[in-house]
Amino acid sequence: MEKLAFKNCHDRILENSYDVQVLGTDRHPGIRKMLREEYDTIDHQFDLWHYSKSLKKKLPEACRKPNCHELQEWIAPIVNHFYWCSRTCRGDVNLFWKLWTSLLFHVRNIHQWEEDGQNSACLHGELSIFEKNARWLVKPSPPYKALEDIIASKQLKNDIPFLVLYCCTGAIEVFHSNVLKYRSKRLHYRMNSMEARTTVAILEHDNNVGRQQAIVKRKTTTSEDVGQPRTRLEHPRSRKRWIVRTIYDPVTSSHVYDIMDTILRIAGRLLDSTWINKEVNIPRNIAPTERPVKEEAVARYRS
Ligand SMILES: [Zn+2]
Repeated sequence: MEKLAFKNCHDRILENSYDVQVLGTDRHPGIRKMLREEYDTIDHQFDLWHYSKSLKKKLPEACRKPNCHELQEWIAPIVNHFYWCSRTCRGDVNLFWKLWTSLLFHVRNIHQWEEDGQNSACLHGELSIFEKNARWLVKPSPPYKALEDIIASKQLKNDIPFLVLYCCTGAIEVFHSNVLKYRSKRLHYRMNSMEARTTVAILEHDNNVGRQQAIVKRKTTTSEDVGQPRTRLEHPRSRKRWIVRTIYDPVTSSHVYDIMDTILRIAGRLLDSTWINKEVNIPRNIAPTERPVKEEAVARYRS
């Protein structure tokens, strides 16, 4: 079903003469195969959040191996490094690999090294006191070996061409979450209602996308100073640690005034409506068999 929906949507985009150069998806094997075989001119990328989920699964598994518990504190920095490699490599597969595998030196407190006859170094500045006190690994050791197996895995190396354009579909996930406010999955809507509700959700999304980080206007005991960007500390159950969240400017509904103005002008016959009824020629249901006569169905149900 997912593959069919993908193909229908994608073909509709192409029919509308859009020039699709890059396409980001999760790691669905069927879609991966379809893109490779049927749309080979499109650069297929993996959404980094979906891909990083496999790292977030493999690294804790490695921690549970004998004598490998010290890997635990490296999980979050390694996942951050994964995003940073994609953002920094600018599409260069070899540079991604070099940046990514530099971890195997950094975790040993080695920040300058010689590799293949060339001098290399980490790109970070001087380490903070907190960073200097990290639980550095030694080579050889069980945790280092467990980490090396993940970082330098053949599968990850093969996947790098799908990871180099910093493709993040988080904004679409946020939209799909927000659209539920107008188009609940628990209720049945007819086609016109579905279209109108989706349109209103899109308008709200477009009106609020790209909001700036909020600025502190009044100092409180837990806030930054006045004029500084606003953040808050959270401890999500899924992350199992305290994280810093960015606070953005509040969502606005200012676009609604334009909609209301248009509705009033149509109602006052100052504007013609271009609305098209989508419920013409739509079957009453999607059942694969013909709808029985209700009286007969009830009689069978009672017999
Ligand atoms: Zn380093």
